[in-house]
Amino acid sequence: MRVCSLAASAKINLHLEILGNRPDGYHELAMVMQSIGLADEIEIRSLSTDTIRVHCSHPDVPTDDRNLAYRAAALIVEEFPSIAQYGGVEITIQKHIPVAAGLAGGSTNAAAVLVGLNLLWKLGLTQTDLQALGAKLGSDVPFCITGGTMLATGRGEQVSPLPDVSQLYVVLAKYRHLAVSTAWAYKTYRQQFGHTYPTPESAHRQPHTSAQSGPIVSALAKFAQNNAASDTLQLGQLLYNDLEKVVLPAHPLVQHLRDELYRQPTLGAMMSGSGPTVFALTQSLIQAQQVQAALKVALPDPDLDSWIAPFTNTSIRVIRHD
Ligand code: ATP
Repeated sequence: MRVCSLAASAKINLHLEILGNRPDGYHELAMVMQSIGLADEIEIRSLSTDTIRVHCSHPDVPTDDRNLAYRAAALIVEEFPSIAQYGGVEITIQKHIPVAAGLAGGSTNAAAVLVGLNLLWKLGLTQTDLQALGAKLGSDVPFCITGGTMLATGRGEQVSPLPDVSQLYVVLAKYRHLAVSTAWAYKTYRQQFGHTYPTPESAHRQPHTSAQSGPIVSALAKFAQNNAASDTLQLGQLLYNDLEKVVLPAHPLVQHLRDELYRQPTLGAMMSGSGPTVFALTQSLIQAQQVQAALKVALPDPDLDSWIAPFTNTSIRVIRHD
C-alpha cells in the first residue's frame, strides 16, 4: 500500500478588490492572498480497486463528488487515463480549517490532492501544470498549490509571487453557527454595485492592473526589504475587502466582531474573502495571544471560535510519502 500525507494551509485575503464583470460570468478580481499556518491534514492511500473514496472529520462536508478533494482525484483520473493501472484512492480529511469561512478550506484540500497524487502516481507534473489543473476545479486552487504571498488576478486563478512576509501573525475569529456562501456574496455584490462596474468599452481602455492593490503590493515589498515596524503599520492600514460591503450589513454579528478586533492593539483587522471569518494582523506571537485573550474577555460567547496562526511561505506541505 502506498500513502502520502500532506498539510493543506488556509489563506486569508490581505486585499480583495472587485474590478468588474468578465465575459465568462465571473468577476474580474485583484487580490493579495496569504497562506497561514492553520491547516487540514490530508492522507491519500492507494486502493487496488479503481474507486475514489473520501472520508472527512467535519459532518457538514460532503464526501461524494461535491467534495473538492474528490473532484481533484477525479480530474487526475480523467486527464491521465493510463493511471487506471494503479487502481484508486482513499482520501481522509482531518478538518481544522472552518468550513464556508472565507479561508479556502475546500480549495486547499483539492490542491493537496493534486500535489499528493502527482507524487503517489509519479505523474511528473510541474507547479505550473498543477496550477493549470487546479484552475479547472476552482479559482483559489492555483494559489493553494504554491501558497505564500501572491497577487491573484483574472477570476483569481492567475497568480504571481510577492515578497515573503512570513514573520507576521494573525488572530482569526468566527462564530461557529455562521457560514457565508461565496456565490451569494459575489451575486449580492453584483446586484448592489454592478452599476459602478466599468462598461466593456471603458474597461478595455483601463490598465489591467488594479489602482488600489498597487499600494499594498508596494508596502509588502518595503516590509520584506526593511523588516521595519513602520512598514507593518502601513500594511495593516492598507487591508481592503470589497465583500465587506455586502457581508457586514447582512451579518451584524460579524460587523460587531470586526469592530471589536479593530479596537484591539493590532496592525489592522479585516474580513477574509467572503467571510464570515475576521482576522487581525499582529507583529508577534505574544501580541496575537494578548489580542486573542482580550477578545475572549470582550466577547465571552461560547459560539465564538478563535485561532492564532503564523503567516507561512508555502501552502501544501508533504509530511509523509511512502
Ligand atoms: P473560499 O474562501 O475559497 O470561498 P470557503 O473557505 O468560504 O472558500 P469552503 O470551506 O471551501 O469555503 O467550503 C465551501 C463549501 O464547499 C461548503 O459548503 C462545503 O460543504 C463545500 N466543500 C466541498 N469540499 C470541501 C472540502 N474538502 N472542505 C471544505 N468544504 C468543502
